[in-house]
Amino acid sequence: MPIPLSDPQRLDVQTIDIEYEQPACPTQHAWARVPVEPNQADRAALKDEIRTLLKARDAVMVSHFYVHPDLQDLAEETGGIVSDSLEMARFGRDHAAQTLVVSGVRFMGETAKMLSSEKTVLMPDLDATCSLDLGCPIDAFSAFCDQHPDRTVVVYANTSAAVKARADWVVTSSCALDIVGALHAQGHKILWGPDKHLGSYIATETGADMLLWEGACIVHDEFKAFELKALLAQHPGAKVLVHPESPKEVVAMADAVGSTSTILRAAKTMEASTFIVATDGGMFHKLRTENPGKVFIEAPTSGSSATCKSCAHCPWMAMNGLAGVAHVLRTGANAISVEPALIPRARAPIDRMLAFTQAVRAGTQAQAALGAWVPHMGAA
Ligand code: SF4
Repeated sequence: MPIPLSDPQRLDVQTIDIEYEQPACPTQHAWARVPVEPNQADRAALKDEIRTLLKARDAVMVSHFYVHPDLQDLAEETGGIVSDSLEMARFGRDHAAQTLVVSGVRFMGETAKMLSSEKTVLMPDLDATCSLDLGCPIDAFSAFCDQHPDRTVVVYANTSAAVKARADWVVTSSCALDIVGALHAQGHKILWGPDKHLGSYIATETGADMLLWEGACIVHDEFKAFELKALLAQHPGAKVLVHPESPKEVVAMADAVGSTSTILRAAKTMEASTFIVATDGGMFHKLRTENPGKVFIEAPTSGSSATCKSCAHCPWMAMNGLAGVAHVLRTGANAISVEPALIPRARAPIDRMLAFTQAVRAGTQAQAALGAWVPHMGAA
């Protein structure tokens, strides 16, 4: 007899092992449980159920560009958003819905909760993590900061609430250059964590004095310059779009470098019909639907990722699926909570980032957008 869709048994998953090496990370081995793709009938039924439950629960979907295409399309169709992590945070904070269903990885849910503590924030799987977060444990990172008290601590959003609480500034890849550049112009020396590739790119671009934590994204770290050069030779007119979490040899070959939003913008505006793209495979859905007629080719990796034999796919982003979204909307399970004592300290550098980006958007000079920031107020 078929199992009803509302039965938790329908949350069919396969568990995959992930091995990685990061010198600063105590975890050399992790895992992800990835939902089994539903058949067409289940898929349609789950989507219908989610549409109904979103209305009934006063809920809205907030999806990242890297999650399954179904979760991107459904978010947009139902009045939610699919975006990078900066816009996810802003959208969740400003939307009137009392429940946010965040499809992404855990730090995204935590950020949403810290910005909207009165709202319920649900995630399809609370164990969806990130190698940058895993590779930056608070005790070790805090000790690193203590050794360099003269430096302003800037952390990437892909970190735990505890690490954010230790930082002066939180940044995403879409605003990191502007914020570090403005801090550098004010004479700040930077302690950066956790992504070494992004940190190295920002240091090169801004000229800032940056001390880097040794973390990496297991997806972007795999892109290979030698193979990219060979692929480019096969597509001589192609433009190369690269996320700056990639190694610097790959970044050096890019025609455009930037966050997922920057990559999307570049694909729309650059005069080329073929693009080679170095970022998570989830991004190709949006690139292809927004640019019919253009060709998008995945940049070569060292071999295969945990979830995909021919491309880069984040195993933790892949933990998000339709069945998980339906399950949390039905039951209220998987509500994110953040240790209350951490919230004010972790939220302060996030609010600073949001205020800075808002001011820059409004046309304020980056220096002025730093406002009356008091150095190290987040490092208490
Ligand atoms: Fe983290 Fe990389 Fe996955 Fe993004 S793609 S969540 S940075 S492991």
